[in-house]
Amino acid sequence: MLLSKLFIPILKNNPSEAKIKSHQLMLRVGMIKQASAGIYSWLPLGFKVMKKIEEIVRQEQNKIGAQEILMPTIQSSEIWKESGRYEDYGEEMLRIKDRQNREMLYGPTNEEQVTEIFRSSLKSYKSLPQLLYHIQWKFRDEIRPRFGIMRGREFYMKDAYSFDVSDEEAFYSYNKFFLSYLRTFKRLSLTAIPMAADTGPIGGNLSHEFIILADTGESKIFTDKRIFDLNSNDTKLEKNSLQQMRKKYEQYYSVTDEKFSKEEFEKVVSEENRLITKGIEVGHIFYFGDKYSKAMGASVDLPGGKKDFVKMGSYGIGVSRLVGAIIEAKYDNKNEIMKWPLSVAPYDLALVPMINKNDSSALEKAINMYKELVKNNIDSLIDDTEENFSSKIKKMNLIGAPYQIIIGKKSDNDLLEFKEIGKETENLPLTKIIEIIKKQKNLN
Ligand code: ATP
Ligand code: MG
Repeated sequence: MLLSKLFIPILKNNPSEAKIKSHQLMLRVGMIKQASAGIYSWLPLGFKVMKKIEEIVRQEQNKIGAQEILMPTIQSSEIWKESGRYEDYGEEMLRIKDRQNREMLYGPTNEEQVTEIFRSSLKSYKSLPQLLYHIQWKFRDEIRPRFGIMRGREFYMKDAYSFDVSDEEAFYSYNKFFLSYLRTFKRLSLTAIPMAADTGPIGGNLSHEFIILADTGESKIFTDKRIFDLNSNDTKLEKNSLQQMRKKYEQYYSVTDEKFSKEEFEKVVSEENRLITKGIEVGHIFYFGDKYSKAMGASVDLPGGKKDFVKMGSYGIGVSRLVGAIIEAKYDNKNEIMKWPLSVAPYDLALVPMINKNDSSALEKAINMYKELVKNNIDSLIDDTEENFSSKIKKMNLIGAPYQIIIGKKSDNDLLEFKEIGKETENLPLTKIIEIIKKQKNLN
């Protein structure tokens, strides 16, 4: 891709209306464009990053055996009246009337819709467990939309739903999602900590929020620092292994302010391990048993002729919020360098040829390299403008390709000035550069 042809309305300075770095950067490099309060268009750069995040989320859902579906954004009020949430949900729900005067709504979440699908399709315990998910836009008429796409009114969410025959089986499903969330956030190069949480309007009694640390986060958190040393690398997708993994995390105190108790915190966490800070909620999982299945009559036949309501959980990841969360975690505000993890970077590599009016040989070199890179599945962006070197580098640092090649007068075709963002420049041949990038991509 040539930078001159990329739809990327870059601003010279940080826009004054943006208060946090992710919002500033996203407006500055034209990743998004506000349409109205809390509602955004996604421009090529932002859309590309979000799609890459979505794909990682999807792969990790598939790995635990969840099946992808797609439910509509617009729902009928009928099912929400059955669950009792039509009245309860309040002003955050956007209510619409169609031309027949039927009450519709723009879905803020999909427990009712998926329960309706389940109850009319499956009748036997033999079909369980079922893990269904979709990745779809949601609308919540937030009272204070802010920080760009971090707290939007329209936002993109992965929400999954589990259906099981008993509590024990349902906890197994819950733990599968717990693991898949740890794996997902790791692939996004984020440290997301599971924290015991309140269930809010979703209901139920078991719940974890996945939170990444950030000063600009809206969640206040209280944790035992030792939780940051844990990982889920050895966890297998079977009952005991998953249960042990969750226990390992739950042994350390880790809650948001809704669940915080000063007395307990000080009792169970020694002073040197206490951490009180702020974070961004990127995922939230709930177990709520038969709350919806009972209200909406979703039951299955059990062995022996009895019937029971299915046990359900729901599992959300804020896909659009993650774009901002990654920026909050990775943007070096002082030096204005965005360090996208390679797994979601808008481009793998930036090619920066030094061009002037009389000499386009560096650009020709870049275009030849580009062809070679395409063959190797390396997505690169060529700065084909005639701007001076330092403003070219400045711009590429904001766009944030993890690797750069500078093509100047000095560089011949064999040895190129190659740089991994944040590290020293090296002189390497293109074949070696391709090898390095491919190796990193395979690790992701
Ligand atoms: P919050 O506490 O941030 O309002 P929530 O608890 O209401 O979120 P959930 O219903 O748990 O949200 O939604 C699942 C995920 O969707 C959240 O973990 C978050 O990442 C994302 N999300 C929720 N509300 C928004 C929003 N207004 N804008 C962007 N993402 C959101
Ligand atoms: Mg939540």
